[in-house]
Amino acid sequence: MNFQHDIVIVGAGLAGLQAAVECVGSADVAVVSKVFPTRSHSCAAQGGIAASIGNEEEDHWEWHMFDTTKGSDYLADQDAVEIMARDAPRVIYELEHMGVPFSRNAQGKIAQRNFGGHTRDYGKAPVKRACHASDRTGRVSMDTLYEQCVRHKIKFYPEHYVLSLIFDSGRCVGLVTCDLPTGELHFIAAKAVLLATGGCGRIYKTTSNSFATTGDGFNLAYQAGIPLEDMEFVQFHPTGIYPLGILVSEAARGEGGILRNGLGEQFMERYAPTVKDLAPRDIVSRAILTEIREGRGIDGKDYVHLDLTHLGEEKILKKLWEITSFVRIYLGIDPVREPVPVQPTCHYIMGGIPTDIDGRVLADESGTIAGGLYAAGECACVSVHGANRLGCNSLLDLLVFGRRSGMAMKEDISKYMHHLLSFDPLKIQEEKITGLLSREGAETPGELRRKMQSLMMEHCSSFRNEKGLRKGIEEIRSLKERYKDIRIKNKGKNFNYELMEAIELGHQLDISEVILVSALDRKESRGAHFREDFPARDDRNYLKHTLAFQTASGPEVKHKPVKVTRFQPQARRY
Ligand SMILES: Cc1cc2nc3c(=O)[nH]c(=O)nc-3n(C[C@H](O)[C@H](O)[C@H](O)COP(=O)(O)OP(=O)(O)OC[C@H]3O[C@@H](n4cnc5c(N)ncnc54)[C@H](O)[C@@H]3O)c2cc1C
Repeated sequence: MNFQHDIVIVGAGLAGLQAAVECVGSADVAVVSKVFPTRSHSCAAQGGIAASIGNEEEDHWEWHMFDTTKGSDYLADQDAVEIMARDAPRVIYELEHMGVPFSRNAQGKIAQRNFGGHTRDYGKAPVKRACHASDRTGRVSMDTLYEQCVRHKIKFYPEHYVLSLIFDSGRCVGLVTCDLPTGELHFIAAKAVLLATGGCGRIYKTTSNSFATTGDGFNLAYQAGIPLEDMEFVQFHPTGIYPLGILVSEAARGEGGILRNGLGEQFMERYAPTVKDLAPRDIVSRAILTEIREGRGIDGKDYVHLDLTHLGEEKILKKLWEITSFVRIYLGIDPVREPVPVQPTCHYIMGGIPTDIDGRVLADESGTIAGGLYAAGECACVSVHGANRLGCNSLLDLLVFGRRSGMAMKEDISKYMHHLLSFDPLKIQEEKITGLLSREGAETPGELRRKMQSLMMEHCSSFRNEKGLRKGIEEIRSLKERYKDIRIKNKGKNFNYELMEAIELGHQLDISEVILVSALDRKESRGAHFREDFPARDDRNYLKHTLAFQTASGPEVKHKPVKVTRFQPQARRY
């Protein structure tokens, strides 16, 4: 069946919902999501949203901009960072007015807490900048924005899996979805399509990301000829519950939690003497792994302890309730009385689909706009996080640039009519699916996925080197060959999740290859990308963004310059 809307948004996380709300009243807008909207990964965000509203202590957007730029290891585009830091207070008050129940301080104002890398007076000491609703900030923000969408009668296509973007005459003119409950394919025509499809953490074995976070949007764009920017920068969050990878928010350290090694030492003092446990994530994750490598893990094993016991039961239950319950449920440990075993877990990707500051997708290194296509949220790279994102800056990014994308789409669509297609978009996808289902090979998607997750963990996590990356590329290419020989046992139409997971695996394999090739290209260490064979940052040769283009022989890497406005690159010490 065919449908038609002015604007179609793929993804019902905070980025997608914020863009949808922005378009209300100006355009006929629809949101497509492969999971039920409020189950998008944004609902798992715990710790907070960064904004210099200064409710606890003096703060300024310039300090926020500086911290974000320094946190990015100077790779972020500073024009975009400035927009985000300036707009942050408005975002918080708007959420509050929509109904987000933020935690309050003693004066009844929105409470704020510390988070890694957020500082006062250009790095002098930690500052309380994270606005939060206990440790369920994502959950309540999602519920509030979803409520707004329902109120404004925004059309949702829940449990619809987007298979392909459709381009004609050089513009994106819609997409093809599979309605998961029925297995029917639909073409949805649009004057503008926004990708808000989230991250790709599930390509790694240990991750904090939900099962749906498989990077589909990156590959939908990449297969359509759009390059992917800075994909080598994958964030490992220091405190995943060992050995599951489920997140213990940085809020735990923001509220005073301390990391200890097997000798009981507060080891972060040695790595970041000024901010200690509140250093940015790339630095803390590498510190934990260094302690483990040097034999100071707990009992010589591959984890350290996050100690909250000195915070007291009242504070822990009030500020970190959900995290505490995770630890009790999954480990049978009570954080009030015992330290929590933690290890770094794949959490976020700084890179993504290149956009301008209004969400318009950029098709090449000179900034040509890909007509009709927009991206916002974790799948986009505008770039405000550069080589390393600061905690609480993602939710902010989603809300700031989700809204700006909505504004840009509203404006741009007035110039376009719906397009009459010169071909049948459903036929191509139907043939693809029939082809996939008719394969009777020996490989199972589950086995290939496990292999991919292990090899990405081994060769392309916090520490990288040329030998490992080359091995990783070779292995991923062999998995891609084996993928051609998969067998999907379920041939049915209704809720065929086996088929959907096989398609997701195809995306994951392509994205893994892009990450590995981009990481091999960057012969320096910057932010989350640490090359053991090139341990220093090299501004002379690598103060530039990576752009990976799809070619018949694999990803081809090109570059584009970084926008430096206020803050010249300096050595990054905390
Ligand atoms: C456990 C956890 C805690 C976090 N805590 C914080 C925090 O406290 N503060 C902070 O700033 N950041 C935090 N982050 C990061 C932040 O939550 C994410 O970066 C952000 O939520 C991503 O939002 P998004 O809108 O881009 O996409 P998501 O919320 O991930 O949503 C993606 C959407 O795309 C849809 N989709 C994807 N592919 C398809 C397809 N093929 N077809 C149809 N639909 C598709 C999905 O159905 C979903 O609706 C946290 C992340 C995690 C994992």
